[in-house]
Parts: sequence; structure tokens; C-alpha cells
Amino acid sequence: MPQPLSLYNTLTRQKAPFEPLNAPFVGVYLCGPTVYSEAHVGNARGPVVFDVLTRYLRYLDYKVRYVRNITDVGHLVDDADEGEDKIGRIARARQVEPMEVAEGYTNLYQDHMVALGCLPPDITPRASGHIIEQIEMVKQIIGNGFAYESNGSVYFDVPAYNAAGNEYGKLSNRVVEELLAGSRDNLTGQDEKRSPLDFALWKRADEHHLMHWPSPWSEGFPGWHLECSAMSRKYLGAEFDIHGGGLDLMFPHHECEIAQSQACEHPTNEARVWMHNNMITVNGQKMSKSAGNFITISQLFSGENEVLAQAYSPMTTRFFLLQAHYRSPVDITDEGLQAAGKGYRKIMNGLRLLEKLQLPEGTEAAADTSAADAELRKLADDCFTGLNDDLNTARTLASLFNLLRKLNGYAAKPDTLAQVSPEALAEATATYRTLVQDVLGLRDEPRARAEDLLSLTLHFYQEAKTAKDYGKVDEIRAALKQQGIVVKDSKTGVDWAYSEE
Ligand SMILES: [Zn+2]
Repeated sequence: MPQPLSLYNTLTRQKAPFEPLNAPFVGVYLCGPTVYSEAHVGNARGPVVFDVLTRYLRYLDYKVRYVRNITDVGHLVDDADEGEDKIGRIARARQVEPMEVAEGYTNLYQDHMVALGCLPPDITPRASGHIIEQIEMVKQIIGNGFAYESNGSVYFDVPAYNAAGNEYGKLSNRVVEELLAGSRDNLTGQDEKRSPLDFALWKRADEHHLMHWPSPWSEGFPGWHLECSAMSRKYLGAEFDIHGGGLDLMFPHHECEIAQSQACEHPTNEARVWMHNNMITVNGQKMSKSAGNFITISQLFSGENEVLAQAYSPMTTRFFLLQAHYRSPVDITDEGLQAAGKGYRKIMNGLRLLEKLQLPEGTEAAADTSAADAELRKLADDCFTGLNDDLNTARTLASLFNLLRKLNGYAAKPDTLAQVSPEALAEATATYRTLVQDVLGLRDEPRARAEDLLSLTLHFYQEAKTAKDYGKVDEIRAALKQQGIVVKDSKTGVDWAYSEE
């Protein structure tokens, strides 16, 4: 039997067997996008990784509740506690409502996620829909002595939190004294805060701020970090199983999330297991608008970006992302994406091959199939080894290719299927099919266009007509009719139309 699922926990810096808090239930929270612009290719990685994780947990018979939020308020420019709201800034420039900006980019993001084969989360909460929960949380944190009001804003009191025996910095392995030394220069202009480490839970809105709500402290808006603590608590509880996100969110966002949840009511690290996916580079460079190598998800799918030689389909992209272990960086290059396209098509051809694996009629099965059975079972079991080892999809794909090589061998010489028992063959093909489709979430993505195939068929129809092969002509007509297509003969040639019957 394969090993149980082990996951690397950023909090403990160790890999450990995964044990749900309340089996068979598993709660998973992933930080979603801030919907102020179109998502870039780096934003696709986390959702694909955590989609595979939740799919695999479900395959393991856990009842998963997967929450992926939408940040539509509170995220300020430069990820700081001062400045304009990212969405508000775009709304002002376009002279539209902030919620119009958020709605448009949310829809686009969700379309992209569906294209990438990510199953919709069970709950997609929006920060703006959970202002009451966030205000309640701030009240609790103030009540517990870990936050203070200052000029209508409320700040989390990091020194008070640590003085009470907590450890701000434990997730990202940062030491408060060092953080303080690094931020001493920034004290000016932060007079509302008692310590430069303190972060906003609630901000008073100035007259230019478009999105604001009433609160006990001021007409204002919640701090960016607060929404994830409040929404994960609401839907998954004060402590839940797995929190995911990109490595760039570990500090300060996730560090602050833990502090808020812990300061609230419960001895908790918010989540038992914190998982962070690594970043994406483009041709070896960090992706940025200033470096000119910024690629949005739409541009990747359309190829409309100077950095790209061609378009890459959503499934090629998914395969490309899964070819790396989620904790390793991924470098986007044309060569890498093209190779991923080939790999993806090879895996999908494998699925079609499975249908044809049959012992030829009249061939006798071998009396002893134990050796071949054991070999096939080992190849199938190996496919789980990578997944169980901290969701190493790179290894899983390599193992699937090994299994496919064996199955290809049987397909090339069907007589050799006599050496293996039907049961072992069925198990191996089921493993291949399940892992490819249900767990890795790869689906068929037709390359050929239906119209091109129709033109080709009409070409053969025309040839048959010219050769006066009326049997073939009728055959093609009938076959197309079954597909709802009628052939139109005219003096100028042949054409097709949808059947109107
Ligand atoms: Zn978050």
C-alpha cells in the first residue's frame, strides 16, 4: 500500500502525515485574488495546486470544504496601511463604481479558473460581504487587549500580543527585534501607530475613499489581512486544516492572519497546516510590468504578448504548472510550454489507448500471471508515491509516463496481455484514468476544429462524386446526417448546412 499523504507545513518547517482535525471533514482556505486588474500567469499557480490538493483529498474520501475568497475591498496600493484602495483607484480613473471593477475582474478570473480545469470552490466569499464579521472580530481583539483605536482607525498591537506570550513572526521565521530594527526609519508619518510593526484592522476613510462602512470607530473600511481571518473563521471554524497561498503572502499577510485569529478567542494558528506555493518567473526573471515580461492569463491563452512565440491552451498551462513541485519555482519559457503541450497530448493519447487494451480473441491467458501482475501493480502504486509526498505532481506525472510506457507496450503487442490478469490490468487502467482526469484534472481539449474536419470530409465526398462512387457518396451523406449536417450539392461545388429537421 502507498504511504499516507504527507504535507509540508510552513509553520513547523516539516513534512508530516496529514491528519484532519475532524475526519472525515477537511477545511481548506486559499487566499484568492484582489480583483482590481486582470490576473497574471503567476496567479494561476496557487488555484491549480490547491485544486489538485482538494481533488486528491476527495479521492481519499475526505469531505472537503474548499473556500477561496475574493478581495474586493481593503487591499491598498503597495500592500501597505496607507494609500488608496487598489480597486478604488481604478474605479476613480474609469469613473465607475468600485463594485463594477470588482465584478468584471471577478467574472474574468472565474472564467479563467474554469478554463484551467479548477473546480469551483465550495464557497467564494467576498470581503465586502463580510464587513459585519470583520467589525465583530476587531471588537473582540480590542476587548482582549491586542488592538487600540487611534484617530478613528484600529491597529493590531504587536508588542502587546508578543508580551502575552505569542510569537508574531513564527510563520515567516521573522524575529520581532530584527523587524523593528529594519523599520525604525519608517516611524515618521506613522504617528497613529504605537509601533511600526502594528498593522491596520480598521481604517478611517478620508473624503476621497470610495468604499466605506459605519463602525464603532469611524466611517471606514477593514484592513486587508482581516478579511481572511474573519471569513475562514466563519466558514471553517476558529481552527481548520489547511491554509494555502503564494509564498509572497506569507509575510505580512498570513503572519497577520494568524495573529488576528489567535488574538481573538482561541489558542489557534488559524490553520493546522500552512502551505505556500512558490513563485513564477518568466525567462529567468521576476515578472513585472517594468521588466516588460508581464503576462496575463488571457495573453497566455491567446499568445498576444511579445514575450510569447505562440498561444498556449489552458490544459497545456495546467500541465506545465503541474510538471513542477509546488514548492519549487517555475520558469515560464516557450520551450518549457511547448514541451508541456507535447507531454499533455501524450498523457491524453494514453486515455484513448486504455479503451483498446484487449486480449485478442482466441488468445489463451497465461496460467501464472503473478510476475507481470506485480510489475503492473508496482507501476500503478508508484503514481501515488509522488502525490503522497507533499503533493509532488512532478513525480506523479513521471510515474504516469512510466505506467503509460508499459500500457503502450501491451497495445503494440496485444498478445502479451495474456501474461497479465484482467484484474491487474483493470486496476492499472483505473489508476491511470482516475489520476489523470479526477485528481490532476486534465481534460480533453480538442485541437482539431470541427469546421476543418467537415471541409476534409466534403473533400472526400467530392472525390467520390467525381469517381461516380455513389455508394460512398450515400455513405458520407448518411454519416453526416447523423451528426446533424446536410450536404448541399450545387453547380459550383459542395457545401454543408445544419439540418433544419
Ligand atoms: Zn488572504
